Amino acid sequence: MNKENKQFDEIFRLLKKELRNFTTPVLSRSKWEEIVHTPYTTLISCLLSLRTKDEVTEQASIRLLKKYNTPQKMIELPIHKIQSLIYPVGFYKTKAKRIKEISKTLIDEHNGNVPESLNELLKLKGVGRKTANIVMVYGYNRKGFLPIDTHCHRIPNRLGWIKTKTPEQTENELRKILPDKYWDDFNHLFVKFGQTICVPISPFCSRCPINEFCKKRSVIKSR
Ligand code: SF4
Repeated sequence: MNKENKQFDEIFRLLKKELRNFTTPVLSRSKWEEIVHTPYTTLISCLLSLRTKDEVTEQASIRLLKKYNTPQKMIELPIHKIQSLIYPVGFYKTKAKRIKEISKTLIDEHNGNVPESLNELLKLKGVGRKTANIVMVYGYNRKGFLPIDTHCHRIPNRLGWIKTKTPEQTENELRKILPDKYWDDFNHLFVKFGQTICVPISPFCSRCPINEFCKKRSVIKSR
């Protein structure tokens, strides 16, 4: 695929039609209504989501962020209290420590704000490219960023658009081949698509709206 390939138009049109009621990948819309949606709460929810199921992340985010939704409020909390609020997210002990450290850094070095810069976000301990990109897109509504999670990495490889081994490589390759006009839709569409149809093991190819465009690379078993 190259940037001029007309297939992108059709693929994005079909996915949008299929996933009309999709929601943002960090938290669903109804869950965001229960907490204040800010760059800080986006950042913390994303940290909680790493290696954790969506439902668990949602409940943990609400328990923690409903009340403690700023770095100032967060640093008042003892680590054991953060741990108990976010349990059972994966690596909850490490994440509790990290959340407190990051909140302190934000206060000490950024006047209590989340930096609106990918490079500055990446300097925060425990913040990787996926989280930094998510904050830029869903926290700050900035354009020109491509958050790559496991679905956004797996599906373009299955489709045959790219051949990459890591999410970082995927981000680099997609920046080269995916026309800019699709960047805003890419993450949330592909996350939802990966959660519902192009699932990690045995994808539902028989009811996939973009089946005819897919090379099914590395798909051993499908339904
Ligand atoms: S045809 Fe199968 S592997 Fe290809 S995108 Fe659709 S569900 Fe995924």
